[in-house]
Amino acid sequence: MGPLRAAAARGLRRGGGGGRGAAPAAREGTKGSAARGGRPAPPAALHLFGDPAEVEALRGSLLAWYDECKRDLPWRVLAVTEPDVNRRAYAVWVSEIMLQQTQVATVIDYYNRWMQKWPTLQALAEASLEEVNELWAGLGYYSRGKRLQEAARKVVSELAGQMPRTAEDLQKLLPGVGRYTAGAITSISYGQVRAAGVRRGHISPRCHPAPLLARSCCWAWRAGGSLSFVPGSPWLCDASGNPCLWLQATGVVDGNVIRVLCRLRCIGADSSSPPVIDRLWAMANALVDRSRPGDFNQALMELGATVCTPKAPLCGECPVKQHCRARLRVEKELALASRKLLGKLPVVPDVEDCGVGGCPLCPSAAEPWDSSLGVTNFPRKAAKKQPRVEQTATCVLERRGRRGALEYLIVQRPSSGLLAGLWEFPSVPLAPGLQQEQQREVLVDHLQAWAGQPVAAGSLRFIGEVVHVFSHIHQTYVVYSLSLDGDVTLDLASSPSRWVTEEEFRASAVSTAMKKVLRACERQRGEESGPAKGSKRKRGAKPGAAGSTRPGTQLSLRTFLRAPNPP
Ligand code: SF4
Repeated sequence: MGPLRAAAARGLRRGGGGGRGAAPAAREGTKGSAARGGRPAPPAALHLFGDPAEVEALRGSLLAWYDECKRDLPWRVLAVTEPDVNRRAYAVWVSEIMLQQTQVATVIDYYNRWMQKWPTLQALAEASLEEVNELWAGLGYYSRGKRLQEAARKVVSELAGQMPRTAEDLQKLLPGVGRYTAGAITSISYGQVRAAGVRRGHISPRCHPAPLLARSCCWAWRAGGSLSFVPGSPWLCDASGNPCLWLQATGVVDGNVIRVLCRLRCIGADSSSPPVIDRLWAMANALVDRSRPGDFNQALMELGATVCTPKAPLCGECPVKQHCRARLRVEKELALASRKLLGKLPVVPDVEDCGVGGCPLCPSAAEPWDSSLGVTNFPRKAAKKQPRVEQTATCVLERRGRRGALEYLIVQRPSSGLLAGLWEFPSVPLAPGLQQEQQREVLVDHLQAWAGQPVAAGSLRFIGEVVHVFSHIHQTYVVYSLSLDGDVTLDLASSPSRWVTEEEFRASAVSTAMKKVLRACERQRGEESGPAKGSKRKRGAKPGAAGSTRPGTQLSLRTFLRAPNPP
């Protein structure tokens, strides 16, 4: 769901195949896209939900399916059972942040551990960034965890522990909360709809015109009167059918929703383009069920994750297939093709587009409908930007600790930028086109500057290359190792650093890439074990570099890394 999240740069969210996890890093990049000037022309009927009865039927079918088929997920349980509104909002918020760019199956374990460790905003606010990074390690996009914690601290210290109650305030006040997350929190944890209009005298002045929790504000409702929706109308009406509140609910748009809506309404233009994004948000806001906004939003995402999947949608099992125009189009195309085969004149009109020239929602002329793709003609998105290629030299420094266990030196990355604050083996970026010897020299220089002393290039052992693809970087780690003998005392004044055992390494806030690097070293060590087991000199430092030390002598790392004395 990666690219779709980029699409979501304007307010979207994730959306990938196997889970709600998948797409929107960028969707939260802006606080919404409504700020552009100019009102676009209304879209053609093909792309609209213009029939209120159809909208009502779609809501009913989707919610009935969701009630029966939804997956049991821990955050859904909390959203329903947690009585405290702040804790409920926090539980939903954490899940929404974790699910960005990450599959549901992966998130469940992280989510459970997180909520166990920090069950409240207050608990998270008191945690250190190091603890947050440790628990987040492996989820990727580490800034998400950092911002989540920053926002929790803000809620506790500046908002008296009260989560903002409206989508607007959530976006305005909390770092890392964009249009999608705000909509998800308010709809799922508050069941929130907004009073966009009221009948005079029917709403508490305390609440109007602020958004409200649906069941709390209208005096008619609070007095015990029954309010209900008139099908196809945004008005919530009293028992006599008098409109009381004009409700506007909060839809959500993530990668899954993009896919479902584009198929339901044959939207084939670039799904990351502003006109399409705006249309999809408008559509989601219009469709969302006023009485069960949270369930409806989750149902739409669930449909995209489990039925209307990117490559193999299960149209036969789809609860809204009767409302799907992509499916209708496929059926028409098939009917047309079979009539042509039989030599009959086509009675089904050719449905190439919506009939509006230059429609901003139809596929471009350069990318016409492809019959072989069926409904997966929709959605379409601009070609993904290729990640930039980078190389980094990395050195796994290892030693035997006091109890004989192997230990590794890790250093902390800067507090901003890629993988901010995480720990890694000493690493240095490489300029393109360097030969291996040159790469080795760059790494030696780095270690030397870090240790403040000359380092023997020959003591570095080449392990191999490890590739890790970040969202925007294709990173190749050129891995070396250096084994240190003797009881080494760390002597570093620069970046924070520490020696860790393998177990401690895995529990530390290290990236997945660094775990791959360690695995490569361990693999190499395994291949070299056996007859030559323990023979570090053969594969490591030059004779004399480390072995010239008397047993038990305390060495500083600087001393150890110093080039061997000339004979
Ligand atoms: Fe998606 Fe098929 Fe359902 Fe249409 S009918 S919404 S393409 S699963």
